[in-house]
Amino acid sequence: AKALGRGAWCFYEEGMTQGARERLAVEAGLRRALANGELRLYYQPQVSVASGRIVGAEALLRWQDPQEGLVSPARFIPVAESSGLIAPIGQWVLLEACLQAQRWRSAGLGSMTMAVNVSPRQFALSDLVAVVGDALAQSGFPATSLELEITESALAERPEQALALLTKLGDLGLRLSVDDFGTGYSSLAHIKRFPIDVLKIDQSFIREIPESGEDMAISSAIIAMGHSLGLAVLAEGVETPAQLDFLRQRGCDSYQGYLRSRPVPPDAFEVLLRDQLAG
Ligand code: C2E
Ligand code: CA
Ligand code: CA
Ligand code: CA
Repeated sequence: AKALGRGAWCFYEEGMTQGARERLAVEAGLRRALANGELRLYYQPQVSVASGRIVGAEALLRWQDPQEGLVSPARFIPVAESSGLIAPIGQWVLLEACLQAQRWRSAGLGSMTMAVNVSPRQFALSDLVAVVGDALAQSGFPATSLELEITESALAERPEQALALLTKLGDLGLRLSVDDFGTGYSSLAHIKRFPIDVLKIDQSFIREIPESGEDMAISSAIIAMGHSLGLAVLAEGVETPAQLDFLRQRGCDSYQGYLRSRPVPPDAFEVLLRDQLAG
């Protein structure tokens, strides 16, 4: 396009689809966000079904855009992945989450786990074992309290690569969870090969409980299967007391969802931890 001169380039740009232009704009914005410190982590409690206590947090990325306000990860994670920016962003997320979790530990607010999402592109682009090792060393947060969430579809797409990586991460002492479980078409035999600690039931199976008998059957089966493999099971997207009752009946270990709390900024999460300590 360059050799054809300016006119040709303009022509090409006009020919770009709306989607492509939007992607380029988001990518440029993301570079700026990373450089200017516009990324934030929100935290959502992971709650024990039996005791009702907060036993962990999931770190969820937000982009505080000066013009647009808070941008949801659904809009920019795909662009971060296709542009490769997910590597530096993911590195920032891991360090920030470990630093925050260690601050809460040091303040005596509890010994909860911190769960961080990692995307499959991050495996390919960076030495995740080194990145995780750095975050742990810099923060002083214990490896055994850090949990990495990997989607079931990522495990299914590149099983050999995932197995090698997860084995190394597991050897560091980390906890590993399978995110969005039930949506990735993986077989039981498949899951058994990975050094997994936790299954996270995808929220699409929780949403229509108790109306959907099918979803109740699927969720029950995942809980039973997870337990038979020696795994803990967490349900995502719990919004109603009826859903929580169902999970209690089925012996699900923990849950996340608006019923307890939306993802919140660190100061608001700290209030939840202090209330729990006081109560
Ligand atoms: P996810 O890992 O499955 O995260 C759960 C999503 O469900 C979050 O959306 C959370 O806010 C939302 N959620 C939690 N409780 C409820 C509920 O009761 N009802 C409903 N309807 N939704 C609930 P969020 O924060 O917008 O994140 C969307 C996705 O973006 C995440 O899905 C994850 O795949 C990705 N993501 C977020 N942070 C990161 C990150 O640091 N790195 C990577 N690679 N991906 C991330
Ligand atoms: Ca997750
Ligand atoms: Ca493990
Ligand atoms: Ca999920």
